[in-house]
Amino acid sequence: MSSIPSIDAVREATLVEPKKAKSFSLKDRATHGSSIFDSKKDAKASLEEDALAINDLQDALFASKAGALLVVLQGIDTSGKDGTTKEAFRYTSPLGVNVFAYGKPTEDELAHDYLWRLHQNTPRKGYIHVFNRSQYEDVLVVKVRDLAPAKQVEQRYDQINAFEKLLFENGTRVLKIMLHMSKEEQGERLRERLEVPEKRWKFNPGDLEDRKLWDDYQIAYETALQRCSTPHAPWHVVPADSRTRRDAIAARLIRGELEAMKPTYPDPGWRPEQYPID
Ligand code: ADP
Repeated sequence: MSSIPSIDAVREATLVEPKKAKSFSLKDRATHGSSIFDSKKDAKASLEEDALAINDLQDALFASKAGALLVVLQGIDTSGKDGTTKEAFRYTSPLGVNVFAYGKPTEDELAHDYLWRLHQNTPRKGYIHVFNRSQYEDVLVVKVRDLAPAKQVEQRYDQINAFEKLLFENGTRVLKIMLHMSKEEQGERLRERLEVPEKRWKFNPGDLEDRKLWDDYQIAYETALQRCSTPHAPWHVVPADSRTRRDAIAARLIRGELEAMKPTYPDPGWRPEQYPID
């Protein structure tokens, strides 16, 4: 018997409850996802259904311009930010979804405030944008590697909350997903990148430097989730050790956000009979 959890159940299982965010601990969240999807078979079936629904919902969103959706994806190297995007949007028209990846800031970006490069890429009404890494890098890698004064980093949590509130209040829903993976699984995936010829191009020796800072990153993530899980843009922690479950859970969340926007095709204000085509 198949058992696909409801969207509400997935939201609840992954949510960092804003009211209790201060005491949130990453260690309390599993990385395997089997308590959400028992079987991989169910996860695959759910992903297939959700990916189709996401396409339909995006189409209606575009027609209705009911709002916009920004999906923020964060996760340690190899946690699957690209894979999740590819699978959840496997059937979505490329006309309606845009992906922006944020790496090390350019000289031009560094000459502005850190939110400048993000704000330029927020979605217009009718569109879905995915941030592969995001404003959160500025309280993650920047904090762990001491790339900005501590006082400035400290101010950023409130600034990010204000930025996301501005988006929300102006019609953009912000779905924030942290892909939560174990250190063991990351080791496996890095080994895979060394061993599988088609995956070698993805290997970056710098990832090993970040792996040495694993604990610091976990603390930085925990702090970001504690301080930036707000009612207008709560965080969701998605277990990422199993690719299949990860994609299925993320797709449930994305579908849920789109459904909450209730996009419906607009009434054009005329009837087809008015326009006979000879
Ligand atoms: P990915 O690892 O996501 O596939 P890249 O290899 O381009 O993509 O890596 C992006 C790198 O850029 C990551 O190491 C990330 O920590 C870094 N980065 C992103 N944003 C910032 C930032 N604001 N300041 C410094 N480094 C950043």
